[in-house]
Amino acid sequence: MTGFPLLLDLAGRRVLVVGGGAVATRRVGPLVEAGADVVVVSPSVTDEILALRVQVRPRGFETSDVDGAWLVVACTDSPDTNAAVAEVAAAARIFCVRADQAASGSARVPAVLQRDGLTVSVNGGDDPRRATALRNAISVALDLGELPVRPSRSAVVGEVALVGGGPGDPDLITVRGRRLVAAADVVVVDRLAPRGILDELPDDVEVIDCGKSAHRHNMTQGEINAVLVERALAGKRVVRLKGGDPFIFGRGGEEWLACVAAGVPVTVVPGISSALAAPAAAGIPLTHRGVAADFTVVSGHLDPGRGPDDVVNWPGLAAITGTLVLLMAMDRLEQIAAALIEHGRAPQTPAAVVRRATLPDQQVVRAPLDRIAKAAAEAGVGSPAVVVVGDVVGVLHLDSNDGLQESNTWG
Ligand code: SAH
Repeated sequence: MTGFPLLLDLAGRRVLVVGGGAVATRRVGPLVEAGADVVVVSPSVTDEILALRVQVRPRGFETSDVDGAWLVVACTDSPDTNAAVAEVAAAARIFCVRADQAASGSARVPAVLQRDGLTVSVNGGDDPRRATALRNAISVALDLGELPVRPSRSAVVGEVALVGGGPGDPDLITVRGRRLVAAADVVVVDRLAPRGILDELPDDVEVIDCGKSAHRHNMTQGEINAVLVERALAGKRVVRLKGGDPFIFGRGGEEWLACVAAGVPVTVVPGISSALAAPAAAGIPLTHRGVAADFTVVSGHLDPGRGPDDVVNWPGLAAITGTLVLLMAMDRLEQIAAALIEHGRAPQTPAAVVRRATLPDQQVVRAPLDRIAKAAAEAGVGSPAVVVVGDVVGVLHLDSNDGLQESNTWG
């Protein structure tokens, strides 16, 4: 059968399901979701069907059951009954789906995928597995943002999604983040976000580069907040694509507040922070049974103990026995290590610097705490990097090659 694909509006319309077993259960749910007035005819029905609170006629099929139905689904385990149901439906000019022998019915149910207002339905001729496989592949491609699903009409109300892009490898953004990027009208992107995924965007997507780095701010935070709000108020779907997690040293909270203050709907999509990804990518478990049961993540972008803005409790940090993770610490690594040692952390504590974690040019330098800054400087390893301090640095690293620079072992 070549067939003629249709999408049925079943809202409030009677659909007769003959059969009450596993196949019927799979059909009744989506029919109820489509708003159909479902009647199930079967001497026994599953608990799942009962839970859907549809009308059940607890007996065998009778010819008059098809009266008033727009569609009939025959899914008993008896081919004879299904054939009889299909025959009665045909006589009444009602389309009938047969679960046991699709080709003997007058309608087929495709493999379906519904997402964000899109419906994809696939029919594989007489091969339902083929249809399911293609449907699943489309589902994965949609998740990866590989298909052009951006709505052609602009949104009535714009919105902002603060999306954590992960540490840099484009494979390490979440499925939801990737999907939102694929559907965006505007992407406002940071330097450390996974920029690779932007290459796939259509030309008419506006990409605004904040060029955010420790030393060079192309846009101030105020300007970034303003552009997010302005584009959203113009009805655009705005993705703020950030490195790592939006709410970890990312000023995502400020962007959130700016959107709320302007009445712009805003959501946040968590990302894998470099605080977690960089140690993992270097083979350093942040906790390890018998070695460390806690870890602390700290920003090192202020001089230890200098100035009223330094809210980091360095003596307290030096006293903890767990793992210490430092972000934005490369400019002051010497002073930070000295402060930790001064307040009691052992100079021999293993430490590591992981630069450009998860990217093809990732570098790792390991050395004891009192020598880590010098070792990194000698290896030419600077920002952006995550510093890890604690005995966990050595647990998976059996060769002792302190101070040596490692090549990328990632990917
Ligand atoms: N929100 C981000 C952090 C932003 S602050 C997150 O959750 O990861 C910027 C700092 O993050 C850099 O100075 C560096 O310390 C760290 N960083 C970000 N990406 C990194 C990467 N791929 N490798 C190593 N450090 C990284």
